[in-house]
Amino acid sequence: MLKKLIPDEYYNKIEDIPYNTLYANGIRLILTDLDNTLISYKEAEPTEALYAWKHKVEAMGFEIIIVSNSRKDRVEHFANLLQVPFVKFAKKPLLFGLKKALRIASRKYEAREIVVLGDQLMTDVFASKRLKLHTILLKAIDKKTEILPTKINRKLENFFLDKIERYHPRLYQQKLDLYVREKDV
Ligand SMILES: [Mg+2]
Repeated sequence: MLKKLIPDEYYNKIEDIPYNTLYANGIRLILTDLDNTLISYKEAEPTEALYAWKHKVEAMGFEIIIVSNSRKDRVEHFANLLQVPFVKFAKKPLLFGLKKALRIASRKYEAREIVVLGDQLMTDVFASKRLKLHTILLKAIDKKTEILPTKINRKLENFFLDKIERYHPRLYQQKLDLYVREKDV
């Protein structure tokens, strides 16, 4: 189980992801978390930076689908403004939401064409790795405004981070060390 909590890559923010490399590696579909990955909980509308990101990655040839655990209308509101498809109440780390996203995608994608973006080990990373998808962990945009279920997940996350450090020290060093160091900054 521990290895399913280790992302393939970690970046501080979505703008830092090397999209050219992803594209060169055959990635075409981006399944992304919403809250604290694309925007903080306190935003009611997409930011200018988020619109710019969406236009950039779509122009490069990626399809974007938002997959959020939130059941709120907020997911729909953001997705509609950004004009991207969405799945809400995805229940990550269950696989149902990500699988639903694959069904509503514009075409059929192979697993090797898909990347999952998210800010949480226990939901985003775990679900993605269970489906054997390429997985990018991002630093949460604003941890102070996180809701209770997420705060509980963060406690679990810390528990498993310690285990990963102990049992897979090299992977921890390569994939998670920077995340841990930046996470509370
Ligand atoms: Mg999130």
